[in-house]
Amino acid sequence: MSDCLFCKIIAGDIPAEKIYEDEDVFAFFDVAAQAPQHFLVIPKKHINTLNDTKDAALIGKLSLTASKIAQDLGFAKDGYRVVMNCNEQGGQTVYHIHLHCLGGRNLSWPPG
Ligand code: 5GP
Ligand code: ZN
Repeated sequence: MSDCLFCKIIAGDIPAEKIYEDEDVFAFFDVAAQAPQHFLVIPKKHINTLNDTKDAALIGKLSLTASKIAQDLGFAKDGYRVVMNCNEQGGQTVYHIHLHCLGGRNLSWPPG
């Protein structure tokens, strides 16, 4: 999608600190980190929200990619959180689905 921020990041039109990329997914550090470790995993194909897909393999791959990266970055054992915000009340601000992975500190529950 030409007017989507994350599609532009995938295309390289907007710079981002890339961590990982394959044929399906792209991962990069969040520009406004909410924890010492905070990266996003996104599908390369544009999907507006979690309500707009039935692609179980792709949604699963986002989680497994986050886990692999957290292991590679060395904070998986201490722990981390993966979360996908959906629509307004879920706090979604970018409408190209993305899995947040946060770690490197104690994360409180419930979230705000
Ligand atoms: P949401 O609120 O939609 O769940 O999360 C969107 C996330 O994208 C936010 O954590 C925000 O900091 C991040 N973000 C927004 N614009 C950019 C950008 O241009 N580059 C990067 N790396 N992250 C961004
Ligand atoms: Zn997009």
